[in-house]
Order: sequence, then structure tokens, then C-alpha cells
Amino acid sequence: MYDVIISGAGPAGSKCAEVLAKSGYKVALIEKNCKWRKPCGGAVSSRVLKYYPQLRKLNLLPITGISMYSGDFCQLKYSWEGIREPSFTVDRLEFDTILRNIAVDAGAKLFDNSYSFDFIYKQNRKIGVKVKAINGTKDFLGKIIIIADGMSSKLAFKSGMREKWKIDEIGLCKCAILEGTNLLDKTSISLFFQKYKGYGWIFPLDDKRFNIGCGTWLEANRNYNINQLYNNFKNNPYLQRFFPKQEFKEIWMGSYPLPALGVKEKSLFKDNIMMIGDAAGFVSPISGEGIHASIVSGSIAGETAVKALETDDISDQTLKKYKAHPNIKKIRRNFKMTASMVDFLYDADGKNLSNMFSLAETDNKIREMVINMFLFSQPPTKEFLLRLKSMR
Ligand SMILES: Cc1cc2nc3c(=O)[nH]c(=O)nc-3n(C[C@H](O)[C@H](O)[C@H](O)COP(=O)(O)OP(=O)(O)OC[C@H]3O[C@@H](n4cnc5c(N)ncnc54)[C@H](O)[C@@H]3O)c2cc1C
Repeated sequence: MYDVIISGAGPAGSKCAEVLAKSGYKVALIEKNCKWRKPCGGAVSSRVLKYYPQLRKLNLLPITGISMYSGDFCQLKYSWEGIREPSFTVDRLEFDTILRNIAVDAGAKLFDNSYSFDFIYKQNRKIGVKVKAINGTKDFLGKIIIIADGMSSKLAFKSGMREKWKIDEIGLCKCAILEGTNLLDKTSISLFFQKYKGYGWIFPLDDKRFNIGCGTWLEANRNYNINQLYNNFKNNPYLQRFFPKQEFKEIWMGSYPLPALGVKEKSLFKDNIMMIGDAAGFVSPISGEGIHASIVSGSIAGETAVKALETDDISDQTLKKYKAHPNIKKIRRNFKMTASMVDFLYDADGKNLSNMFSLAETDNKIREMVINMFLFSQPPTKEFLLRLKSMR
């Protein structure tokens, strides 16, 4: 019998497991495949270092700038050079392995090649998780269950806490790690917003390797073929300037969905269960950034579970403190704001976005506002939005 069973050892599950194990609780961390590289751009906010100070010792590629482009290639460049803690880029296979090892070192028990697919019930109460392992089906019993198994979660749906994802509430992405000579600025990431709801990205990983990908958002998922978009994006004449030789080795490639409407407010806890990370929608609706928010959700769900176990009260009343935590409230609020901006930004074939970037080129105050919106989810002023509308 475990104190806590966590399904999914991505950033959210690993952080949650570490917090609980550090407090002395018996944690089963169930992972379907530790060798799977989660499809991801791998750009990580420096805010993650607060949760993982160990990462400071690693040789991570520091990112000190961003270039954002509108659908008609109007560019907005921003640099945070000189900042004490820069953001960084990672290969997700290496990154996830590091975070899992930190959880294991704290005392969590990791079960690899273990696929959780249903709950175990006793008198209508969920008392554990059924897992397909190499040697057959295994039952894991636990007082608290944490759903951290991302977009493909079986438990999220079976818990009755939320419905299956609908095609127009997610993003669909395809990305690759390529290796070859390139002229990319190794200290800066690039985002290419499209005229339809979607964007592409190029994130350097080291001197030769970079992560390149693109995706569609919401209703655009129905209208575009992601494989075709990915090929068009890779071969876009504007991008060719970075790749004069055009010879690349493909290290890896993958496609995956991500939540696109922010946190699933009504799905965060129920009975003795909490849902964290992508499974619960902890991804920014504009940028697709989810690693930081997922780690925060894992950390706070872990702390909430520790309190529940300490007081031997694992009721809704205790677990609801996860949803009500100020940091979770802040993420929920920020993502709501960014979700509400998406329609506006992509309206009129992305003209608002294009006008926004060109105004920001010449006006420093506007520039700060636009950067704050994209990087820190702070809402722009009403006057600014009206000004953009009037420019169309
Ligand atoms: C293409 C793409 C690009 C992205 N780029 C970025 C980026 O550059 N920066 C950023 O911050 N965010 C990015 N994101 C979002 C980011 O990847 C996620 O927000 C983050 O990985 C969420 O962490 P998680 O632990 O909740 O879920 P995941 O990372 O998805 O981890 C879930 C874990 O659960 C395991 N699992 C799944 N099903 C089961 C099961 N049934 N049983 C047991 N284990 C299971 C999986 O193997 C996985 O290890 C991107 C997402 C996509 C799809």
C-alpha cells in the first residue's frame, strides 16, 4: 500500500513525487516508458530553476532573447541579456530523465514500462490504479492518486473529472531535432506566428542541433494537415537564410497534442484524486509553454497531499487547497487572459498581431506591454487594443 500513486513521470509527476518523498511518504511513480522523448520545443523558463536549483550546475544552453514574427514576418526582437538567470533549452529525453532521477533520489519508487489504464474500486471509492506492466497487469493501492500522465491520460477521463479532449480545444504539433550547419543566433529562440491559428518555432540546442516545429490551434486543427504545414514551414524561403547548406541529420521527430484553452478549472481535484500538468491544462494558450506551470502544479499538489496525509484528512475539503493556492490561482488567471486574447490576435489573418509588432518596433512603452503579454501573461490596456483595431 502506497501513500500516493502518481501516474506519469513527466515534469509534473516527477516534481510531485519528489515533494512527497522528501516528506517521508511512500510514493509509486508510474511511467509508461522512460525512454520516450516527449515531443516538445524544449524551451524552459528560468522560473523553473526555483523548483530545480540542481539544474544551475548543468551545462545548459542559456537563452537571452526572443524573436517573434507575425504571419507577414513583421519582427519583434527582445533581449534579456545580462539577467542573472537566463532561460535555457533542453532535449526533453535528457531533461525528463534528470527530473525523474531527482524524484528517485528523494525516495520515490519509479515503475518504468508501466501503463496505468484504470482505477481499482472499493465501495465506489477509487483506492488504486490498474497498471499494464511487462509481466502482466499489476494493482497499485494508494490513499491519494495523482493524475500526471499528460494529454494521453486514460485516468483523467475514467476519473469522471473531465471529458475527453475535443479537437477544437487543443493544439496539434509536429517537431524535430535536426543537426547541421546553421546561422541561428544560439542565444535566442524564434517564434513564427501564422495568419491562421498556429505558429512555428526554432529553438537552438547547441552549436549544431536545433529544435524546429509547428502547430495549429483550436478550430484551425480541422482545416490544416500538420505534416504538410511542417514541411512548408521547414522549407519556407524566409527561414532558408538560417540554413544555407540545407543538409541536416534528423536526430528525432514526433507529433503530439497540447491543451490550448488553459487550466481545466473543474477538473483539478475530486475525492482522493488531484490532476496536474498537461492532463489538467497547465499550458499557456498563446505560447504553448507548459513546463513551468506543470512543475508548479506538481509541486503544489505534492504539498497539498503532504498536508492531507499529515492530518489524515484526504477529503475534498483538504485537496481543494491545491486549486485555491495563490500560485495556482495566478496561473489560472494568467492563462484565462491569454486564452481570451487568442481570437483577437489571429483575427483578420493575423493583422492585429502584425500591427502590434510594428507599433512595438518604434514605441518602447508598447514594446514592454507586448513583451509582458507574451512572456508574462499580463493583459494589454484597452486603449492599446482599440488602437490596434482602428488600424485595420
Ligand atoms: C510539440 C510541443 C512543443 C512544446 N514546447 C514547449 C516548450 O518549448 N516549452 C514549454 O515550456 N512547454 C512546451 N510544451 C508543453 C510541455 O511539453 C508540457 O506542458 C509538459 O511536458 C507537461 O508536463 P507533464 O508532466 O504534465 O506531461 P508530460 O510531459 O506529457 O508527461 C506525462 C508523462 O506521463 C507518461 N504517461 C502517459 N500516459 C501514461 C499512462 N497511461 N501510464 C503511465 N504513464 C503515462 C508519459 O510517458 C510522460 O512521461 C510543448 C508541447 C508540445 C506538444
